[in-house]
Amino acid sequence: MKKILIVDDSETSILYLKMMLPDYNLSIALNGKEMWEQLNESNPSLILMDVMLPDVNGYELVKQLSKTEKYKDIPIIFQTAKSSSDDLEKGFESGAIDYIRKPVDKKELRARIKSVLKIKELENQLYLKSITDYLTEIYNRRYFFEIAIKHLQFCQRLQKNLCIALLDIDYFKKINDTHGHDAGDFVLKKFADILGKTKRQNDILARYGGEEFILLFFETDKSIALEILQSIQKAIGDEQMLFNQQQIKCTFSCGLVDLQEVPGISTMDDLIKVADNRMYSAKESGRNRIVDVG
Ligand code: GH3
Ligand code: MG
Ligand code: MG
Repeated sequence: MKKILIVDDSETSILYLKMMLPDYNLSIALNGKEMWEQLNESNPSLILMDVMLPDVNGYELVKQLSKTEKYKDIPIIFQTAKSSSDDLEKGFESGAIDYIRKPVDKKELRARIKSVLKIKELENQLYLKSITDYLTEIYNRRYFFEIAIKHLQFCQRLQKNLCIALLDIDYFKKINDTHGHDAGDFVLKKFADILGKTKRQNDILARYGGEEFILLFFETDKSIALEILQSIQKAIGDEQMLFNQQQIKCTFSCGLVDLQEVPGISTMDDLIKVADNRMYSAKESGRNRIVDVG
């Protein structure tokens, strides 16, 4: 059941809304202060807000919500007796997504709520698509940079460590050539699955390029990251990859670097460059290995 937070000081109005919306999980706030308290406790899919509240103007409240990172994406529908076009404009300008006139008509209210929830769901699906790699369903490179840069800034500010690992599948072209492109796709998905299952929950995994993957170990020293990469190496080695009754074996080469080991490193690109050089050393020295120096 979708959660809706009603912000309204009129008991009668609340009673009506409850009758009109029996199939939603409703919570009630009688004023602005209670709204913030309610938001702390639950995360509604939508806020239905009266413009005239005892302690604060609804327009003001919506403006404050839109400046709050945690709540800025919750859609707000205003309900009010004030219904001139100026009021309407003010409502939309403050950031509300829709507006309904009091006395509220049941069918109209239900239709508006449904359409707002639908828009939000589509928006969310679109967002997820924009951060996900279509084949492996892990994060894509663009999103990796978006969050990795924030993590890097955090660690630099507080003098904490983090690690970056680049993993490139060995002789992947041969897998494509021997077993076909679909088998190659299958291996990429399997590889990403195993990485996802073996890494810790907070480690950030993304597809960096064709058969290259990247991992960020947040607030982690190199020795720990190395242990995790070794378990990934073992898990990949142990996996029986079967595609159309063909057994496919795969290994990877990896370059690992941590933030604190190289003086003067200041950007994510610098860190990745070192990891990339080490990954190439791993290739040159025989593949199927992790290089964390040089
Ligand atoms: P190395 O051990 O030096 O890394 O050799 P490699 O064959 O893995 O590397 P190379 O860069 O020569 O080839 C990578 C291949 O990966 C070439 C490309 O066609 C293939 N590839 C890239 N993206 C995909 C994909 O999404 N699906 C499949 N099946 N193949 C892909
Ligand atoms: Mg490659
Ligand atoms: Mg490769």
